Order: sequence, then C-alpha cells, then structure tokens
Amino acid sequence: MSEKTLPCTEAQLRDIATRWPTPFHLYDEKAIRANARRMKAAFAWNKGFRNFFAVKAAPNPFLMRVLKDEGFGADCSSLPELLLSEKVGLDGEAIMFTSNDTPAEEFVHAVEMGANVNLDDISHIEFLEKACGKLPELVCFRYNPGPLKGGNAIIGKPEEAKYGFTREQLFEGYRLLKEKGVKRFGLHTMVASNELNPQYFIDTAILLFDLIAELHAELGITFEFVNLGGGIGIPYRPEQEGVNLEIVGEGIRKAYEERLIGKGHPELKIYLECGRCITGPYGYLVSTVRHLKHTYRDYVGMDACMANLMRPALYGAYHHITVVGKADAPADHIYDVTGSLCENNDKFAIQRALPEIVPGDLLVFHDAGAHGHAMGFNYNGKLRSAELLLREDGSVTEIRRAETIEDLFATLDFNKLAAF
Ligand SMILES: *Cc1c(COP(=O)(O)O)cnc(C)c1O
Repeated sequence: MSEKTLPCTEAQLRDIATRWPTPFHLYDEKAIRANARRMKAAFAWNKGFRNFFAVKAAPNPFLMRVLKDEGFGADCSSLPELLLSEKVGLDGEAIMFTSNDTPAEEFVHAVEMGANVNLDDISHIEFLEKACGKLPELVCFRYNPGPLKGGNAIIGKPEEAKYGFTREQLFEGYRLLKEKGVKRFGLHTMVASNELNPQYFIDTAILLFDLIAELHAELGITFEFVNLGGGIGIPYRPEQEGVNLEIVGEGIRKAYEERLIGKGHPELKIYLECGRCITGPYGYLVSTVRHLKHTYRDYVGMDACMANLMRPALYGAYHHITVVGKADAPADHIYDVTGSLCENNDKFAIQRALPEIVPGDLLVFHDAGAHGHAMGFNYNGKLRSAELLLREDGSVTEIRRAETIEDLFATLDFNKLAAF
C-alpha cells in the first residue's frame, strides 16, 4: 500500500491557491531530497554511484538544482536539456547524453561540455567522429538486449524498440573504439519504464555485468561505468507498492561482487538515470472544479486539462485524486473528471468513485511530478500552468510562472498579418 497524502495541510493548500490561480503544479522539496538521499544510501556501497536525473521528467532548473545539491547529475537527450543542465551548473561528467536520432551539432555541444556521450547506434561512432573532428576520450554504448529481455506496457518489447545496439554490434563497436584509440568505456541499457518489480532491475544489472565480463575477456577493455538506465516505477494506485530501493541496491551489490569483481573486472561506477521515481510522487497538480454536469454520466469540469497532465489520456494512466476537505467523506459518487479540451479523451479519471463534488472544490491529482507539466502543450489555446516549490520551511517559491496569451502568440507576427 502507498499512502496518498498531501504535502501540506489543507489550510496551507487553500492559502497557496489564493496566492496563485489554479491550476498549478506543486512540488515537495523536502520529500524530493529525502527520496534522493534514500537512493544514494541504497547504493552507498559503490564509490562512484550516481543517479543522472532524466531531465525530460521535470525539466525545471530549480528542481534540477535541488537534485544537484543532493549529488545527482542530469540525463539529457537534446540540446535544450543540455543547456538547462549548464544553467544549473552541471557540466562535464555530471551529464549523461543519452540521445537517439541525434543531430551533429548536439553531439558537438555535448562533447564540448565534456558530457558522457552515450551512442544509440554503431553508425554513430563515425558520425560522432566526423562531427567533432575526433572521438571523445570516453564513449558509452546503449545496449538493446532484444528478445533476451521482456519489456512492459509503456516501453514495449526491446526487440521492437528503436533504441540501442544489438549484442553483435556491441562487440564490433567496442573493438572499433579500441582501434581508434578510445581508452574509457561505458555501457548502458534502458529496458523498462514504470516497472515496480525490484527483481527486474537486479536482472538487468546481471545481464550487463555478464556482458561486461565477456567484453573485458574478449576485447581486453575495462569499463569505467555501467549505466543501468531509469525505469523505476512509482505506485500510482494506492494499492500498489513502491520499489524497495534497498532491495534493488543490495541485489545489485551481490551481483556486482559475484559477476564482475569475482570475474576479475576492476571496480566500476554504477550509474542510474531515473527520472519518474525521483520527482513523480512529490509533484501535485492542483485544480479547481468549474462545473458539474449531469447527462448520461456525471461530469466534473476542471480548470486543468490534459495540457497540464496528459498521462491519463495518453496511457489510460491512473492518477489518484484527493478532494480537499473531503478526505473523510464517503466515496459514494461516480464521476468522469474532465478538462476543457475539445477532445473526449480529455479526462483525468473515468467512472471514479469520489466524495460528492461541488463547483469550487479543490482537487489534487497525485503523482504528477514527472511527465506532468513536462508533457504540456498548447493545443486548443491551452496555457501551461505555473510550477511552485514547497520549501522545507513551508514557504512557497514560484519556480516557473504560468504562460500568458502573449507567450502563446509570441511566434506570430501580427504586423505582418496587417500587411498581408
Ligand atoms: C526516459 C528515460 C529515462 C528515465 O526514465 P524514468 O522512467 O523516468 O526513470 C532514462 N533514460 C532514458 C534513455 C530515457 O529515455
């Protein structure tokens, strides 16, 4: 069971909602820090351990600064994400550049920053070399284990995924790197998304440790790091159990000792690039009920829409809902909770049992701290909401203002229209 609580009292939340118009995203700094520390502690046995926060989950420099403070790096897959990391003060090997279908200039920028460059395909070795004039000192490859590893609903099956090298290509690729004089190597995979089974991550580590031992034996190269990717899930539903990071850390330690150190490979750094489990549970979308509507079903109309949180519409994902002030009221009403887009899938919940709702009620959508605000869009003229950070002392810092109509029109030239 995972408890779905609010990050502050109901009175505080109502007070915040009088200072910032809803909808807004609210992040809990204290909980994010505690969670980051828990992850670090679970891997404290590995000297070089680091989580590179997957920027795409919550690309806000204030959140990234909090995580930098806790020793995390950034996992980027585009130039804007690299630039955001630079603004936060992250650089060099605190950045993992795990991209795919990458333009040359993004490789160049990543190499100039001294980032860890993680290649998605064997043809990118020469592409990178050509783009940069020479290969960087350190190169990492992304492995796609294909049918060796079952996938899950969000990321699909590895053999159908566009990412990564085949096993044969890995051997060929590292041989080529060695010939070209590269001396520092990393290996990466990312085969799960929102996975809740701790054994899955231990099995992934075993797969990579065995592969590294083989590459080491066959090619005589030693690896500086292994990047086990992200994909640690969060319990969106209250009846689900979160991933026990201590079990994952201990399982990976055992495998590391037996399969790498035991096979004569020197110590290497364990990296993760988790995003969802770092900020997801500690971000809340706060929204006000505009209308109640009773037709063939009972509908709740919110001032937020799928532009603020797309996951339910995109994946049919469950997000728990708290009706502020009605935590103890019986959930004896069945509602479709909707936004205002002219799209019928703009629903946060379908046929959800909730306490009786009236216009003006404040609703909190839980677990919106990853792929929430980040997936926002402007379709139908919808504006992205503000992002607020609840500080450890209980104060609130606006970490991104809400978009305005001027922002929406910023790429249009109405002077040109007048003369058109
Ligand atoms: C999305 C992504 C991650 C982060 O995944 P989470 O599920 O947020 O942990 C890490 N690495 C790569 C390459 C990704 O695409």
